[in-house]
Amino acid sequence: MVGKEEPCVYQNPDAPVEARVKDLISRMTLAEKIGQMTQIERRVASPVAFRDFFIGSVLNSGGSAPFEDAKSSDWADMIDGFQRSALASRLGIPMIYGTDAVHGNNNVYGATVFPHNIGLGATREADLVRRIGAATALEVRASGVHWAFAPCVAVLGDPRWGRSYECYGEDPGLVSEMSSLVSGLQGEPPEEHPNGYPFVTGSNNVVACAKHFAGDGGTDKGVNEGNTIASYEDLEKIHISPYLKCLAQGVSTVMASYSSWNGSNLHSNYFLLTEVLKEKLGFKGFIVSDWEGLDRLSEPRGSNYRNCVKTAVNAGIDMVMVPFKYKMFIQDMTDLVESGDISMDRVNDAVERILRVKFVAGLFEHPLSDRSLLGTVGCKEHRELGREAVRKSLVLLKNGKHADKPFLPLDRNAKRILVTGTHADDLGYQCGGWTKTWFGQSGRITIGTTLLDAIKAAVGEKTEVIYEKTPSKETLASSEGFSYAIVAVGESPYAESVGDNAELIIPFNGSDIVTMVAERIPTLVMLISGRPVVLEPRVLEKTEALVAAWLPGTEGQGMADVIFGDYDFEGKLPVSWFKTVEHLPLNARANSYDPLFPLGFGLNSKPV
Ligand code: BGC
Repeated sequence: MVGKEEPCVYQNPDAPVEARVKDLISRMTLAEKIGQMTQIERRVASPVAFRDFFIGSVLNSGGSAPFEDAKSSDWADMIDGFQRSALASRLGIPMIYGTDAVHGNNNVYGATVFPHNIGLGATREADLVRRIGAATALEVRASGVHWAFAPCVAVLGDPRWGRSYECYGEDPGLVSEMSSLVSGLQGEPPEEHPNGYPFVTGSNNVVACAKHFAGDGGTDKGVNEGNTIASYEDLEKIHISPYLKCLAQGVSTVMASYSSWNGSNLHSNYFLLTEVLKEKLGFKGFIVSDWEGLDRLSEPRGSNYRNCVKTAVNAGIDMVMVPFKYKMFIQDMTDLVESGDISMDRVNDAVERILRVKFVAGLFEHPLSDRSLLGTVGCKEHRELGREAVRKSLVLLKNGKHADKPFLPLDRNAKRILVTGTHADDLGYQCGGWTKTWFGQSGRITIGTTLLDAIKAAVGEKTEVIYEKTPSKETLASSEGFSYAIVAVGESPYAESVGDNAELIIPFNGSDIVTMVAERIPTLVMLISGRPVVLEPRVLEKTEALVAAWLPGTEGQGMADVIFGDYDFEGKLPVSWFKTVEHLPLNARANSYDPLFPLGFGLNSKPV
């Protein structure tokens, strides 16, 4: 550590941030600067990486072995270990650790998992999303992490996209409102806070990351990492506009998109990254690349890496999520600066931005985890908040009449009810992708309540709940014995390109199961999916009631709260529901708009 006896400006917490940045950067060697621009995966992080390469940032993607079942304290131990190595370097610059906490601290066992963004979009409640951000920040911070790669502010153009559920909806205005997650994660800046300047309140908050800049949700046919064809005016109006709200809230980092705009990859787009985001919109935080985003600038992927580095850094990428071959990245960067292909001014600009965020986030003063926060992970209050969000996110698509009454709310004291379907008792399915692992999983992957658990807890003592994952012949033959059935079907977890789907049929013969049951027993369908799926006429006609429950997360009681009538339905569709995939893409801005259910649709179950 420099100047232990005489603290220098950068070490003085009372000095202005900009003075600290200037002071620190003036003391740094090129190697130390390039180290700050380097983000590596935790599995390649080692004391040597910090000592010899001055690594500025570490991340993890998903839980990944052997960390799938690690608890917050295990994460904090690991991250504090990295931090101690970083602090032991010559200038003692803390590293910043980032994770995909995109619906709660979702990589960690026992954390509260909130509904994915599409469900939050259905709530249309910006303050709820802000509160979820604040709860997430606490749970993330408890595990030693300083930076959440959230929110995704993609404007959904086509539900065939595998990342549809990461979007708050198809309407840029709605997505902008829901970006209140930034204020929840980072804390709310005062009114006079300069637009575009990073803001993080303190050690109970985390750095947010608006992603993926820009146009990721608008790709042709909803292809992941595809091409968005649009005029600049449309790109700005639809896909860039949510970033304005993020910048006003002091979002500290922005992630570049894998996608292209009119054929030009965002990681190489000087105009959008530098001229628009940094210069026109005044962003003063830093831009991080996406995972191996630079490798995608060449064909075959990763070839001529030096040229990829040159293109991306010159376009305006400040920190590179390498994340494995960091020695190669560092060598290429060094050579490119020495040859003049990347200017020292560009390097200094990138490093200033990174240091600014680290100072603003208080990392120099609070580099290590705060174990007193461990009690917030999955705490009662956060689970209540999750339950509230689930309640408000449910969209009632159909509520037919049964015995002259609206079918919903259901009678909790009915004699005998059937609960069935692939999604009735699967916590992993409820959570979807980006939960514990990148793709998500099936089963009891963490602590939480399934729909079946919630139904059992909500019904009267005398009510008999029969659960069968797939309805048996016997049950269907003795169907008169049931007052009603709740059938939960939907999508199994996926992430990114793996989720791209041109058919959007309910998997596991979901429509067959629904029809089979609904032909015999009055049926409510709970659809657990990350997006609108095909609702065949037989499903629409034969069922009594239909609820879009999205990917609700760990707090399944929120579903029981509403179907049994303790609360009314409030959710409104954040995306237009298509009739058939041939109608895609479909959105309310289109000239010929003919949806099955329009944007904003959502019934109430209680007569007014
Ligand atoms: C995704 C990002 C994510 C990153 C780090 C990428 O594949 O596109 O959204 O933040 O991985 O896990």
